[in-house]
Amino acid sequence: MTDLLAVHDLSVIYGTQAQAVERVSFVVGPREVVALLGANGAGKSSIMKALAGLVPARGELIFEGEPIGGLTVRQRVARGIVYVPEGRAVVGSLTVRENLVLGGYQLPATQRRERLTAMLDLFPELTGRLDGPAWRLSGGEQQMLAIGRGLMAGPKLLLLDEPSLGLAPLLVRRVFDRLAGIQQGSNLAIVLVEQNLQMTMRLADNIHFLRSGRLVGHRHRSDLQTGSARQEVIDAYLGSASHNAA
Ligand code: ATP
Repeated sequence: MTDLLAVHDLSVIYGTQAQAVERVSFVVGPREVVALLGANGAGKSSIMKALAGLVPARGELIFEGEPIGGLTVRQRVARGIVYVPEGRAVVGSLTVRENLVLGGYQLPATQRRERLTAMLDLFPELTGRLDGPAWRLSGGEQQMLAIGRGLMAGPKLLLLDEPSLGLAPLLVRRVFDRLAGIQQGSNLAIVLVEQNLQMTMRLADNIHFLRSGRLVGHRHRSDLQTGSARQEVIDAYLGSASHNAA
C-alpha cells in the first residue's frame, strides 16, 4: 500500500524555546485513521499545524508521493489537506450556512451547493439552524459545523484537532459516531489528535503516543481490545491526567 502521507523527522521549534516537536515520523495510508495521543503540551497541535503549513517545521512531508513541506496553507488545501483546529473554531457572528460556504469557497457554485446538501445529510442537526448565527449552536453542534466546514473542501486528508475538547461525554460520543460514519463511506484519511483513548479507539486504526514532543510508542487498534491492555497504555504513555478522559 502506498502511503498517502509520510512524515519523516518532523521538528517544530518556536523561536528560541525548546523543541515542541522532535524528529517525529509516521505514515498515513489511504482511508486510514491515525491518532496522535498525548497529554497537554505534548506537541500534538504543533504537529497538526506543521502538516497544515501553519508553523515553520523541519523534516520531510511527502503527500501522494510528492514533497509538500514548501507549500503554503492554501496550496495544501488545494492538494486535499484540510485542518480543523481545536476549540470548535467556527465564526460565531456568521450564520451556519455562511460558515459552511466558507469551507468550500474555492468550489464552483454548483458543487458548493451539492456539498452543502451532503453536509446537511451528515449533520441534520444543522438543517434547521442554517440561517441563525453559529454562536447559538450547542458545543456539539459547533463541533459538527467545524467538521462539516472542513469537509466542504472535499479533503483527502482531514487533520482533526481534539474534537472532544470541552464537550459533554454524550456529545463526544455523538461526534465520534458521526465521524465513524463519514469515514466508512468515503475515501477520507484522518489524522486525529486526542487525549481520550476510549473515543480514539472507536475511530483510529493506528495510535501513536506523544510525550514532550517525541513519539514514545505505537499501538494498532487490535492491540487494545482488553481492559488490561488499555490500562497498560494509559499507565505507560498517558498518565493519570488522561485516565479520567479515557
Ligand atoms: P494541548 O493539548 O494543550 O493543545 P499539545 O499536545 O497540542 O497540547 P502543543 O500545543 O503542540 O501541544 O504545544 C507543544 C509545546 O509547544 C508546549 O510546550 C507549548 O507551550 C509550546 N507552544 C505551542 N505553541 C507555541 C507558540 N506559538 N509559541 C511558543 N511555544 C508554543
